[in-house]
Amino acid sequence: MKKRAIVAESPRPAKATAATRIPGPLEGATFVTGAAEAWQLPDAGPPEIAFAGRSNAGKSSAINALARQTRLAYSSRTPGRTQQINFFELRNGARVADLPGYGHAAVPRALKRSWQELLWSYVTTRTTLIGLVLIVDSRHGLKAQDGDLLAAFLPSGRPVLLLATKIDKLNVAERRRALDDVRRDLRQAFPEQHARTSVVGFSATAKAGVEEADMTLAQWMRPERSGAVP
Ligand code: GDP
Repeated sequence: MKKRAIVAESPRPAKATAATRIPGPLEGATFVTGAAEAWQLPDAGPPEIAFAGRSNAGKSSAINALARQTRLAYSSRTPGRTQQINFFELRNGARVADLPGYGHAAVPRALKRSWQELLWSYVTTRTTLIGLVLIVDSRHGLKAQDGDLLAAFLPSGRPVLLLATKIDKLNVAERRRALDDVRRDLRQAFPEQHARTSVVGFSATAKAGVEEADMTLAQWMRPERSGAVP
C-alpha cells in the first residue's frame, strides 16, 4: 500500500509527447465559409493568412498537414468544378484563406478568368491579409503565374512563405538544387523584396518542413506584427 502511494505521487518525467507539445497555429482549424465571388467574402476582421499555388502543387495536402487533419482542405480534382476561397478559423481567431488553384490546363477560359479575378482582388485589396503562403511543386519550381502573384503581393511589404512541396520525391542532391533554384529565382525576380520571402522544403506525405512552417506562421501572427498591418 505504502509503496503504491509513493509511486502515484512521484512527478512524471517531462516528455515531449503529443499531449505536451505546443500545437501548430493551424491545428484545430475549422471551416467557416466559402466565397465564389468577391461580394461573398466575409467581412474583413481578424488577420488572415492566404494559401495560393498552381493547382496540383499540393496546397490542400499542405494545409491538411499543417492542420494535422486529413480532410480539412479538399482539392477540386475535377477541373471545371466551381472554385472558391475557403476560410478556416484558427484557435487564436485568425483565419486561413485557401485560394483557388491556378494554372488548370483544362478549364474554360471564362471560368479561369473568374477564379483569377477573385484571387487577384483578394490578394491585392484584402487589408487584413498579413502574409501569403505560396505552394510550389519542388520538381517544377517557380512558374510565370507564381511570379505574377508575387509581383502583385510583395510590394505591399508583407511576408511570403514559399513551401516547395513533394520533396519526398527528390533525393538529397535534387532537393538542395531545387531549393537553391527557387531562392535564386526569387532573388533575381525580386531583388528588393526577396528578403521578405522564406523558402522551406516541404512534404505533406513525409511530414517534412511542417514545424518550420509552423514557426514562420506563428511569428506572423504575433499580436504586435498583425497589429502593424495597414
Ligand atoms: P492542390 O491541387 O494544390 O490542392 O494539390 P493536392 O494537395 O490535391 O495534391 C495534388 C497531388 O499531389 C495529390 O495526388 C497529392 O496526393 C499529391 N501530393 C501532395 N503533396 C504531396 C507530397 O508532399 N508528397 C507527395 N509524394 N505527393 C503529394
